[in-house]
Amino acid sequence: MTPADQRSSIEIINPEIKRGCIKHVLFDFDGTISLIREGWQQVMIPMLVRRLLELKTGETEQQLHAIVEDFVAETTGKQTIYQMIGLADMIRDRGGNPEDPLVYKKEYLDLLWDRIKDRIEALETGKVQPEQMVVRGSYRLLDLLKARGVRMYVASGTDEPFVKNESALVKVNHYFDGIYGAQDDYKKHSKKIVIERLLRENQVPGESLLTFGDGYVEIENTKEVGGIAVGLATNEQTGEGIDEWKRERLIKAGADIIIPEFSCAETLIDYLFGDIDRVD
Ligand SMILES: [Mg+2]
Repeated sequence: MTPADQRSSIEIINPEIKRGCIKHVLFDFDGTISLIREGWQQVMIPMLVRRLLELKTGETEQQLHAIVEDFVAETTGKQTIYQMIGLADMIRDRGGNPEDPLVYKKEYLDLLWDRIKDRIEALETGKVQPEQMVVRGSYRLLDLLKARGVRMYVASGTDEPFVKNESALVKVNHYFDGIYGAQDDYKKHSKKIVIERLLRENQVPGESLLTFGDGYVEIENTKEVGGIAVGLATNEQTGEGIDEWKRERLIKAGADIIIPEFSCAETLIDYLFGDIDRVD
């Protein structure tokens, strides 16, 4: 394996993908385009660990942290409520009496709001420019895709009103033919449902779908229908380069290509649309 610093910024994991037939492009939102909710894992993980520690099972904070970290990674991309249902299950498995997962979801959203409210306000008042709150190269990538005439969508596990508001704040909403997020009736929405519906309604095969995501779920759902999955393994600490842990996770989920962010947009799009056969 090539060390991270020697890798090309576009890493082709699966050279067998059928290129040149992309018609629909699906984006995850948080961590894939928007950085407004950056660091949500550092809010969710300690909250879940704290709830489990209260049960005094004898497990150390370190042990619980490792369990919760894996759980959060594997459910990244799912609706928040499912992560809270998972917390309730973990509490029950340890002999505890969990609250309604909606109670946990509210607690998490309140904690997350403390972390992100200044970012939202800074965008609303113009103190921070939208470009500073998106993954590098996002607008360029969206422009290139628009020029190719494909239809683009957002599917997020974040509640839909938030996704719509935040996509307007970072000025990407006009690129999309549909912006789909979590509903109060959580069984009505999932990335899988969005993918199946857009293939059915447009009467196109899975291979016409291209997905960009930083989570397990959207990558897995895309591969299930035979689409192309591009995983973003952004190193959030430095804002550039690859996070090895994320890379491993995304490859395990089935990612065909791994990129650090979208500064490679031109080459990547030329490759995916079959204009070039190599990326290095
Ligand atoms: Mg994401």
